[in-house]
Formats: sequence, C-alpha cells, structure tokens
Amino acid sequence: MTADELKGLIRTVPDFPARGIQFRDITTLIGNGPGLRAAVGQLACIAREAGAEAIAGMEARGFIFGAAVAVELQLGFVPVRKPGKLPVETIGIEYALEYGSDRLEIDPASVGQGQRIVVVDDLIATGGTACAAAQLLRKAGAVVEDAAFVIDLPDLGGAAALRECGAAVHALVD
Ligand code: IMP
Repeated sequence: MTADELKGLIRTVPDFPARGIQFRDITTLIGNGPGLRAAVGQLACIAREAGAEAIAGMEARGFIFGAAVAVELQLGFVPVRKPGKLPVETIGIEYALEYGSDRLEIDPASVGQGQRIVVVDDLIATGGTACAAAQLLRKAGAVVEDAAFVIDLPDLGGAAALRECGAAVHALVD
C-alpha cells in the first residue's frame, strides 16, 4: 500500500482536543484490515532494518502498532505507560508539554542491558513524548537509536528534536 493510500485512511478531525487543532485520527486506519496490515508490515520492516531486539510503544495508541510490530518480528514488547498503571516499582520521566507536563513510566525489568529497542507510536508532533520514552528506556539500560511512526507532522519539528535526542525518525506518511 502506498503512502498516499495509507494517508487516505487517516481521518482529520478539526478542533480536537481544543479549538484550532487538526487531530490526525488513526481510528479509521486501524478499522481497515488491509490498511492496518500494511501499516504494521511497513513499521516492522523499519524496525527489522534498525536491528530491533525489542519494541517499545507508548500508551495508548503506541500499544496498537508497537505490539503488532513485536508480534510480526517475534520480539518482546515494552509498554511505556502513563503514571500509576504498573503494579511494580517503576522508573519514570517527566517531560514538558505545551501547557504543563506529563510523565511516563516503565518496569525497569522489562528492558535488557544493552538491548536495542525501537520505539513505535502512531504520531510524532514535537517529539517530546518519543524523546522522553527514549531517555527512559536508556535509563533502564536500552540502546535506542530509532523510532518509527505512522504519521510525522513535519511542521512541528519532531524529527529534528528526536535527532537531538539521539534517535532517527522513520515515518510512513507526513
Ligand atoms: P509530541 O510529544 O508533541 O511529539 O506528540 C506526540 C504524542 O501526542 C503521541 O503520543 C501522539 O499519539 C499524540 N498526538 C499528538 N497530536 C496528535 C494527533 O493529531 N493525532 C493523534 N495523536 C496525536
């Protein structure tokens, strides 16, 4: 499936979650069997070429694509979670949002020392979330040099920000 065909399956919802924001919604993409299969297959190719030994995905939409990529490559999946969700002692990282801050947490035991992990999410905007995830996974001992997204919003500079953060951005559409 071409990038244009994939793009045609992504819905744009105006004024969500706030007025003036054009939300790129993958609900329509994952509701389309061939579209979901193509997106997962293409993300898996990227992760395989990057030498992934495990896949990490951010809650919640990163779980959909990340877990599917992990299954495709027969690799383990590391859930990068919102605060307070994991039932064990976690390590976490705070990161800045446009207004305020947020936090991600992982179970440090879910990451192998020196394990090469590719981060997968639905979308990169400013790159703040993916950079925080990469830093957190590294804190647990992982090597994170690549991140794969269905959508890149190039005007928001996420690819450059993630490069600064030590990881290359790969996206299926922008
Ligand atoms: P960033 O941290 O600014 O790169 O924002 C990326 C994070 O916010 C990802 O976890 C996305 O799922 C979410 N996000 C931001 N904008 C959108 C959007 O338009 N559609 C879907 N998710 C978005």
